[in-house]
Order: sequence, then structure tokens, then C-alpha cells
Amino acid sequence: MAAFPEALRGSGLSEPEHQGELCTVLRLLGAADLSIARLIEGHINAIALVCRYGTKAQQASLASDVGDGALAAVWGADDAAGLKIVTDGSRAELVGRKILASGAGFVTRPIVTAKAGEDQLMCLLRLAPDHPVDLSGWTAQGMRSTATGAVDLTGIPIGSDEIVGSAGDFMRQPWFSGGAWRFCAAHLGATERLVELFRDHLISRGRAEDPYQLQRVAGCVAAARTARFWVEEAARRFGGGHCNPDATVAFANMTRMVTERSALDVMETVQRGAGLLAFNRPDPIERICRDLSTYLRQPVPDLAMSNAARAWLNSSAPAGEF
Ligand SMILES: Cc1cc2nc3c(=O)[nH]c(=O)nc-3n(C[C@H](O)[C@H](O)[C@H](O)COP(=O)(O)OP(=O)(O)OC[C@H]3O[C@@H](n4cnc5c(N)ncnc54)[C@H](O)[C@@H]3O)c2cc1C
Repeated sequence: MAAFPEALRGSGLSEPEHQGELCTVLRLLGAADLSIARLIEGHINAIALVCRYGTKAQQASLASDVGDGALAAVWGADDAAGLKIVTDGSRAELVGRKILASGAGFVTRPIVTAKAGEDQLMCLLRLAPDHPVDLSGWTAQGMRSTATGAVDLTGIPIGSDEIVGSAGDFMRQPWFSGGAWRFCAAHLGATERLVELFRDHLISRGRAEDPYQLQRVAGCVAAARTARFWVEEAARRFGGGHCNPDATVAFANMTRMVTERSALDVMETVQRGAGLLAFNRPDPIERICRDLSTYLRQPVPDLAMSNAARAWLNSSAPAGEF
């Protein structure tokens, strides 16, 4: 409920002025368990979208269900056919499925994106708890506990109560790309936890004074702290701390690059510094590396990076003030 505004019995966690607190929450969740962080991030994103674009009735209905324990999510990924809204006379219904849908089988209030002709619309659904899902394709190395799978939605009626906002709202900027800071915060939390586990490992083995290990520790702390500066600033800008929406998007895109690099560097360094132990279950270093490697794979990273580079090239901002 925390993501709803106070008027809907929440504490405003998805509102612009609380993005700093949300950053801390997602970081701490990422440190504890990346699968939980992924599910909560999707839940909060769905609430934020309904609060930003939905009607009062949609907001109240979602708040009521979440208050009763329902989990929300944003299911945007499509297979080749895509999810469509097909209209026959006065009746409209969904045809198709969503793939890579986290919380499949648990989420009952997803927002799904669907095509109506050339338009992309958001639909807020209410699924039965036993709505069929297919998790058979989810064989990824990590993030198994997210129950990410395919959900066939064919036949679900769509009316004005289900449609959230207007065509194009889902990818409206700076909210769409700028919001990438949230998954970066979860990745960062896991990265920070890895560095702390590395410290525990070195101290408990009496290996902390070795100069090569000290060099690894320094590199890890610097990498994690660098990512933290970027993610917290991206959250601040997303919350309105920066007046230029294009710059907010570019900064979030750059933050993705920095956070990914930090996580990859820390994983490699900790694996080399802790040795085989880092690959043995149930050591938490092994679990975090497995989940983090998987969850780091986010949409179109090359485009995010190159768009950020173009944005800076097309500006006259000094590099230090980008
Ligand atoms: C644990 C987990 C849970 C998820 N849950 C959800 C969910 O609930 N809802 C949801 O909607 N999605 C979800 N996703 C999907 C996620 O949002 C991304 O869509 C997915 O992870 C991206 O996968 P990818 O690496 O194949 O991306 P891609 O975008 O395919 O990137 C792979 C590589 O191809 C490059 N590339 C991309 N496009 C092109 C192109 N046109 N030409 C050349 N190169 C290209 C990229 O830069 C990158 O190098 C989840 C993913 C994970 C891992």
C-alpha cells in the first residue's frame, strides 16, 4: 500500500517527492533478495502508472484490491504476435499473450500493454487467482523465484474501466526511460551486498591484509559507491529535481550503463578474490551473482547508452554538469 498517496491509505512512495525513500527501499530489497525486489518494483510501477494516468475509480479499485493483499505488475514484453485489443461491434477483448511476465500465477492486478490498431494502450486487468500461466520457458540461470512466464489473456473483455490513460502514455517520457533508475537501485543493492560479503569472507579467512585482496576491496567499494552516486541522482532527477525532461532520461540511461559496469566489475572481482566458494551453493555470493547476472539483462542497453551519448553531443553542457 505504501506506493499509494495518503488519500488512498498509502504513504506516497511512488510520488515524486518520495523517490529518495523509494531508492533506499529498492536498494535494501535488492541487497536482501533480487527476486523480491523485482516483484515489488513491478508492483510499485503499476501503482505509479495508475496514479499518474488512471481515473479516480481505477485508483480506488486498485487500492482496495492491494489493501486486500493483491499484487500488481507491469507486463509489457510481447512475443512476435503481440497482445491486441480486438473489437467486434460494441465488444472489445484481448487476443494474445504476454511473455516474461513476473509474478505469473501470483499477480492478479497486472497492467498490460496492448495494441489497438497502431495505438499502444495500457489495460488494468483483474485476473482470477487460478488464471492459467506457463512457467515452462523460465529456465534462466537466476531470478527463478520471480515466477516469470507467459500468460495467455485471450478473451478478456476490455472496456473503459480497464483502459488506463490514453494511447502512448505507457512510453511517455521522461517517466518511461527515466524510471529505469528503479531497477538500477535493486541491482545496486545486490552489488553493495556482494562487497560486504567479500569483506566478511576476507576477514573470516584472515586474508584481509593481503595487498592483492586490498586492491580488490578498494576497487569494489569504489565501483559500488560510484553507482550509488549515479542511482541516487537519477532518482532525484526523476522526482523533479531536474527541470529538463530530456536530461532526466539521458541521465537515467547513463545510470544504467554505470550500474551495469559496477555490478559486472564487482562480480568478477569478488569471484576471483573469494575463489571457488563464490560458485558453491548455498553460499550467498553464489546466489547473488546468479540472480544479478540475470536481472542485469534489461531491454536495449546499447540504445540506452547511445541515446545518452547523443543527448550529450547535442547539448552544450559541460561534461561535469551533464
Ligand atoms: C527476472 C526478469 C523479470 C522480468 N519481468 C518482466 C515483467 O514483469 N514485465 C516485462 O514486461 N518484462 C519483464 N522482463 C523482461 C525485461 O524487461 C527485458 O525485456 C528483458 O530482460 C530484456 O532481455 P534481453 O537481454 O533479451 O534484451 P534485448 O533488448 O533483446 O537486448 C539484448 C542485446 O541485443 C541488443 N539489441 C536490442 N535490440 C536490438 C536491435 N534491434 N538490433 C541490434 N541489437 C539489439 C541489446 O542492446 C543487447 O545487447 C523481465 C526480465 C527479467 C530478467
